[in-house]
Amino acid sequence: MKRLTWFLPLALLAGLFLVRAQDQPKPVSVAPHVAATWKAGLASVVVTPEKFIWMAGYAGRDKPAEGKWQDLFAKALILEDEAGKQQVIVTLDLIGVPQELRRRIAARLEEKHGVPSSGLFMNASHTHSGPELRRRSEPPTEEELKSPKVRDAWEYTQTLEQKINGAIDAAFADLRPARLTWNHARAGFAMNRRRDYSLPADHPNANKAPNPAGPVDQSVPALRIESPEGEARGVLFGYACHNTCLGAYHWCGDYAGYAQEYLQQHRPGFTAMFVTGCGADQNPYPRRSGVVPGVSDLELTQQHGRSLANAVEMAMTANPIGVTGPLRNAYEEVTLTYEDTKRPPHPYPVQVIKFGNALTMVTLGSEVVVDYSLRLRKELAGPAAIWVAGYSNDYSGYIPSTRIQEEGGYEAATGWARGIEEIIVGKALELNEKLK
Ligand SMILES: [Zn+2]
Repeated sequence: MKRLTWFLPLALLAGLFLVRAQDQPKPVSVAPHVAATWKAGLASVVVTPEKFIWMAGYAGRDKPAEGKWQDLFAKALILEDEAGKQQVIVTLDLIGVPQELRRRIAARLEEKHGVPSSGLFMNASHTHSGPELRRRSEPPTEEELKSPKVRDAWEYTQTLEQKINGAIDAAFADLRPARLTWNHARAGFAMNRRRDYSLPADHPNANKAPNPAGPVDQSVPALRIESPEGEARGVLFGYACHNTCLGAYHWCGDYAGYAQEYLQQHRPGFTAMFVTGCGADQNPYPRRSGVVPGVSDLELTQQHGRSLANAVEMAMTANPIGVTGPLRNAYEEVTLTYEDTKRPPHPYPVQVIKFGNALTMVTLGSEVVVDYSLRLRKELAGPAAIWVAGYSNDYSGYIPSTRIQEEGGYEAATGWARGIEEIIVGKALELNEKLK
């Protein structure tokens, strides 16, 4: 009898588990024919500021944040090929990747995990609803620290570094066998935000932006990570458009934040990571209150987030292409100079990451206009799909193309000397050739 008293509840419990296990749908691979030759590790950490500090993005802000619509995240993905070569990818729901921050994280990554700088790709969503960051390399002076804006940005950026390092370590600890697939879909809410400079001055739309006929990159690339059994573990996806649906005083990842949230919503343990493309001259439309009657800025943001999440769902399931190794990567900095020769030249990062013959990623620093991705996709056309990311590894102003430097306007105002497009594209082509 005594034996039965503990045996009975135990048997009931076991029965319950059996029923539960039958209820759970078994994971289904999107591409069971693709060999699971990779190891992948994923991790995510909340980086929402603990205080309502000053926000980044709009020069016109006159007060610190005062609320939160969404948490902000730093996410890390480690991919390891069959030979043990590793790529670390970090995405941030933040305004940019300060070059100095990336240098420190790269140095620690090499020391602690033996991965060289070429194996680190950091990208920011460029949300304009995140905190101000410290971009300069030297610590603030006593005098500068009297400004709450400078002090908070400095303190926040130091905490951020620790959190990113923690996410990287956690992703290394999560490394296990994985299958990678790739494809892309499209989302249509990005529109060229510049005016049409080809119009004669007397044309009724001559000075009007946005430009529905202007160049766009509406591709939504998606690299899907699943377990050998077919369980979806994460996705790295991209879009080339400013995260500027919102101009309020609430923390939020903007449309990219919602796209990530929706993709994760019904997939426990799944990590969705957003990579910004060459969207410096692209804005999400419709944009800002009053444009669509009865729909608030936040609702428009969520609609764009939903559109992007839908496109990612398409890209993950429509004819997935198997991605196998080997992994190859290269990172170099080219020297960009300013028209004003008294300004010190800037070391500008260009990185190429090759996933066998299936996919080639080109990552470019700072706010890159759409001409770069359209040109590189054409010039690098071959068996491998081309994915061009902007806002990577550096955050130092707009990177206009030759066309935009000639036309002028907002994205041309950084003051770079002419010809930066040839220097940057030339380096990307050279690195790609080197890795063949
Ligand atoms: Zn911007």
